[in-house]
Amino acid sequence: MIKTILHQVKEYKADSLKTPFYMLLEVAMEMIIPLLMATIVDEGVNKGDMGVIFKTGLWMLLMAAVGLFAGMRGGATGARAATGLAKNLRESMFRRIQTFSFKNIDRFSSASLITRLTTDVTNIQNAYQMALRLGTRAPASLIVALIFSYGISPRLANVYLIAVGILAVILVIGLFSVFKIFSKLFERYDKLNNSVQENITGIRVVKAYVREDHEKDKFSTASRNLAKQFIKGEGIVAFTAPVMMSTVYVCILLISWFGANMIVSSELTTGELMSMLAYCMNILMSLMMLSVVFLMIAISSAAMKRVSEVLNEEPDIVNPKNPVTEVKDGSIDFNSVDFSYNEDGSGKVLENVDLHIKSGETIGVLGGTGSGKTTLVNLISRLYDVNAGEVKVGGVNVKEYDLDVLRKDVSHVLQANVLFSGTIYENLRWGDIDASDEECQRMAKLACADEFIEKMPDGYNTRIEQGGTNVSGGQRQRLCIARALLRKPKILILDDSTSAVDTTTDAKIRKSFKEEIPGTTKIIIAQRVTSVQDADKIIVMDDGAICGFGTHDELLENNEIYKDVYESQTGAGSGDFDEKEVS
Ligand code: ADP
Repeated sequence: MIKTILHQVKEYKADSLKTPFYMLLEVAMEMIIPLLMATIVDEGVNKGDMGVIFKTGLWMLLMAAVGLFAGMRGGATGARAATGLAKNLRESMFRRIQTFSFKNIDRFSSASLITRLTTDVTNIQNAYQMALRLGTRAPASLIVALIFSYGISPRLANVYLIAVGILAVILVIGLFSVFKIFSKLFERYDKLNNSVQENITGIRVVKAYVREDHEKDKFSTASRNLAKQFIKGEGIVAFTAPVMMSTVYVCILLISWFGANMIVSSELTTGELMSMLAYCMNILMSLMMLSVVFLMIAISSAAMKRVSEVLNEEPDIVNPKNPVTEVKDGSIDFNSVDFSYNEDGSGKVLENVDLHIKSGETIGVLGGTGSGKTTLVNLISRLYDVNAGEVKVGGVNVKEYDLDVLRKDVSHVLQANVLFSGTIYENLRWGDIDASDEECQRMAKLACADEFIEKMPDGYNTRIEQGGTNVSGGQRQRLCIARALLRKPKILILDDSTSAVDTTTDAKIRKSFKEEIPGTTKIIIAQRVTSVQDADKIIVMDDGAICGFGTHDELLENNEIYKDVYESQTGAGSGDFDEKEVS
């Protein structure tokens, strides 16, 4: 885990090494200053020697200046190293996420990925900066202060040793409990982010269903739980600070008491006692710093684990070694295909599917919700890999293709289609970055999107808001179809992509497909029989299996499910695949 994170330091290694060096230099200067102070008091003030005071004072000034410079440089290099690490972590995670397959994405929720990319990385950044600066400074200062104290008076220094021992025990116990609390904290962050993300993306639905109060409650609970967990953790942290302070003040009192007695019996000089008290403050500060460092490490170890999970997640769909770089034609073959969303292959969504589609055919897919239609077509563009059997496109197993080539030639209008903020032209050019204006307009016409685009104030240069909120559902679907057409695919998959389009426009789109892209294999998933009845063949799906495959007339004759749905949709006009059976 730590190796994975440190691997991302990359070009900031030099800064990471310079920081502890500057910190040690600063500590050295800080430690020498009390010794010089003792000399000023004992040799200068007590003996009335102005020369010693000036000379030692100048040395003190020089040391202080060097210490200041080292502290400043250390601060700057530490900040550079830590922000650099955070930048590299974010970039690497983002790049990794881009390689994820749908299955990888299913494993992490979007909200969790966002927390990992933001809050978690910030925690690691802070912890790294602390570890580089205070992590070297505090122990070095502690050890050197102890050694120097022993050099002055072993008897008095024993008081420190006992105090440090007591404080170390308090620190370890406190931090151990804090660590457990902070590991849980991030799970609660995920829940909060989940709640926010769901609410913001679905705000229209929330309003439409008057679910604001329910959403507010959900958010408040997540927010309260997070606050409670924080208070628990911070409570322990807050408890350790006064305990440490009290111990150190007791230390100062004891040293002053014993020290004063020792001065009276001439075992110690006034200057030495002053140095001892200065070291006492050093020890106090070091312990405070150490506790902060440990706390940050405790918080960040949970963050480090979560970031490493993303960085170490192996994309389960990758390019083969010697990929095929050309899709010959748009034929599709499913040979004894089994598919499950579970890692262990249990709970099959598709079972023993055999299907053969010729290049250029138009295929309709009908079936109830959850019958496996989307899953079936997702296997064609290798959004998921099969558990058993094989899927072939153009006579070649999809696993043998270069992924970019396959996905360019198998253009998929997903059920949950999304537009991005930008002009209509920019959105269309997701399909083909080099497409000319004329080409974009031609494809928009094929998808029957030209009518409404031309009515918009800036035509094709009209801006689409994030998520395509300023166009209607049907308009969004048509833009997504036009975008997919610009890829000039060999296979075009429309997953319920005209559900929000009126039947006349739907028919117009199908007609233009037939006339303008006859060589492209078209797979059309639909709920309406009218959307598929003129297809070359229709697949009827039921509970993960293909229970009918034929022309409209054939199916009407020999497929009960198809016949029922056809009759109910055309007869009573209200039938659908999900309608409950009435007895
Ligand atoms: P359809 O498109 O016919 O409505 P799907 O192919 O979307 O059906 O879903 C088939 C089954 O697979 C359903 O039971 C659904 O709950 C399940 N399913 C779909 N997507 C996922 C997923 N990403 N993870 C787990 N199960 C899923």
